[in-house]
Amino acid sequence: MPAPDSPSEIAASSVHIPFSFELFPPRSAAAAHTLWDTIQQLAAVGPEFMSVTYGANGSSRESSLEVLRYILDETSVHPLAHLTCVGSSHFEANRLVREFLDAGITSFLALRGDPPSGAVESDHFLGDLGSASELVQLIHRVQTERAQYATLASRSASGGGAIPSSRQKVRVAVAAFPNGHPRSKRSNQDVDTLLAKQVSGATIAITQLFFHAEDYLGFLEDTRAAGVTIPILPGLMPATTPARLERILELTGERRPEELSRRLHASESSDEQVAIGVEHAVSLCLEILAGGAPGLHLYTFNQHRAALSVLDGVGLIAGPTSPESSNLKESA
Ligand code: FAD
Repeated sequence: MPAPDSPSEIAASSVHIPFSFELFPPRSAAAAHTLWDTIQQLAAVGPEFMSVTYGANGSSRESSLEVLRYILDETSVHPLAHLTCVGSSHFEANRLVREFLDAGITSFLALRGDPPSGAVESDHFLGDLGSASELVQLIHRVQTERAQYATLASRSASGGGAIPSSRQKVRVAVAAFPNGHPRSKRSNQDVDTLLAKQVSGATIAITQLFFHAEDYLGFLEDTRAAGVTIPILPGLMPATTPARLERILELTGERRPEELSRRLHASESSDEQVAIGVEHAVSLCLEILAGGAPGLHLYTFNQHRAALSVLDGVGLIAGPTSPESSNLKESA
C-alpha cells in the first residue's frame, strides 16, 4: 500500500505514524512551572515518547532527571533520557547509567557530547569513552549486569527463575547527521558511524534537524545501502521567528532554507511568522513521510503550540491548535 502523502489521506488512513517530542530541562523555577503544563499538553496527543536533553558535561543531570521523573509519574508517555559521555571516566559513566536505570528510565539517547568550548582535540577532552558507540555498549552492559544481579537475588529468595534478556528491556537511540557532523572528515563518515552504532546495539536513530527533504531522504538511501536497518527518525523543528532560524543555522551549520528565511525576515507580525514556520515544517514532514520516514520527532524548545500545529497540519492529530487561532507568541 503506498504511503499516504496529504494531510487528509494521512488523517483518513489506518497507517500508524508515530511522533515524539524533545524537551530540555528548565533553567528556573518559573520555567519549570510552565514546562509541566507544556508536557501535559504534549502528552495529551499521545506521542510515542518524550526525550529530555542532557546538559554539556553533565551540567543538567539533576534537572534532566527531574523532568524525566515527571514524565514517568505524571503522564502515560514513555520518557527517553539523552546521556553524554564526553569527559567521563568508565566509573562515572557506569554510575550515571545506573542512576537513570534506578530512576526507572529504560530508554536512552546515547551521545558522545561536545568538548567544552575552547577545547581542541589535543586537550584529550573525550575521557574514557571516545564515541557514542561505546556508550551504547556500556548502557547494554550495565543493564545486563543489573538484570543478572536481580535474577540472582530473586533466585536466592525463591529458588528459581530465568535470566531475562536485557536487550529487550532497554531501548538505546543514537544521533544521526544527514548533512554530516561538523567534525566529519569525509562524506560517508556519518553513514559508517551510524552503522557502527547499530552494531554496538542501537535500536533507533534520531537525526540532527534539517530543512531540506532531499538531505534526509538521500541519507536514508545511503544508510540503507550500507546496511543500516534501524529506523532513522527525522528530527524537525518549526522555525517560527527569524532569530530562531539564525540561531539554529549557527549552531548546526545546516544549509539555509532560502525561501523560509526570506519570508520570515520579510514578516513583522509574530503570528504570521509562526504560520510561515509551521507551513514550512508541515510541507517538509509530508515530503519525508511520503519518502519513507518512519515517524516524526519534533524539537519543541519547550513550547507546545507550534509542535502541535505541525502535527495538526500533517493530519496526525485533530486539534484546534492552528497558528491563526491560537495567537502564538513564541520567542526565539
Ligand atoms: P559520535 O557518534 O561519537 O560522533 C559523531 C560524528 O562525528 C560521527 O560522524 C563521527 O564520525 C564524527 N566525529 C566524532 N568525533 C570526531 C573527531 N574527533 N574527528 C572527526 N570526526 C569525528 N549534545 C548534548 O550535549 N546533549 C544532548 O542532549 C544532545 N542531544 C542531541 C540530540 C540529537 C538528536 C543530536 C543529533 C545531537 C545531540 N547532541 C547533544 C549533540 C551531540 O552530542 C554532538 O553532535 C556531538 O558532537 C556528537 O555526538 P554523537 O553522539 O553523534 O557522537
